[in-house]
Amino acid sequence: MVKVIDAHAHLEELDDLESALKRAREAGVVAVVAVGSDYSSNKEILEISSSYTDYVYPALGLHPWELSQDYEKVLEQIEAHADSIVAIGEVGLDYRISTSRELQKKAFREVARLASKLDKTLIVHARDAWRDAFKIVAEENVSKAIFHWFSGPLDLLDELREKHYFISVTPAVLYQKKHIRAVERYPIELIVIESDAPVSYRGKVSEPADTLLSLKGLASLKKLSLEETAKTVFNNTVRLYGLRGLEYEED
Ligand SMILES: [Zn+2]
Repeated sequence: MVKVIDAHAHLEELDDLESALKRAREAGVVAVVAVGSDYSSNKEILEISSSYTDYVYPALGLHPWELSQDYEKVLEQIEAHADSIVAIGEVGLDYRISTSRELQKKAFREVARLASKLDKTLIVHARDAWRDAFKIVAEENVSKAIFHWFSGPLDLLDELREKHYFISVTPAVLYQKKHIRAVERYPIELIVIESDAPVSYRGKVSEPADTLLSLKGLASLKKLSLEETAKTVFNNTVRLYGLRGLEYEED
């Protein structure tokens, strides 16, 4: 059986977390990085990760959808837990929502600066805002970043690649043209896979076990075996997040 790490899931939003994680283990998911979105979801992520030690690894974030004027307290919260988190995210820019772009850019720049200072991987969400998001991440000298579910302009990938930034693959790789084209073009050495659970893909609510769908889509686009693809992205994820003690074991 192949082994995968779900590099990005919103575990606090799942209806029945325990059953979902049981199904994930059975499917070959050996670890999950749980991402937070705001002060209260970050708190839940910390609780979940302490209940599932060595399985759920926490990332604390400040999602543009949850952004408010008092975001500074979220930054303080992230910094206070710097030693126990594997990344900062989900954070980013979303120009399809009504929150002011100025506020989004200001908050995103501050959180990128924090990632740079703490030397943490930044998990970036962007919608209609790929170039601005990249610009801020690069200007703040973030050394490790994941442009999650990349579906932005293809020429931007060359710039991402120069900085050794990662992109992540979701189950949408099975049908979403913009995502497929980016994944085809980007080197597998800079790719991780995820579920982004509980996001719905073609009407079906996802869970961490669906990371296997991302793996299948990726393997088929790269014309590699499932095993070979799994091993490469597993090792990428371990290195990128600094997940200690996780090794790809073959059955
Ligand atoms: Zn997400």
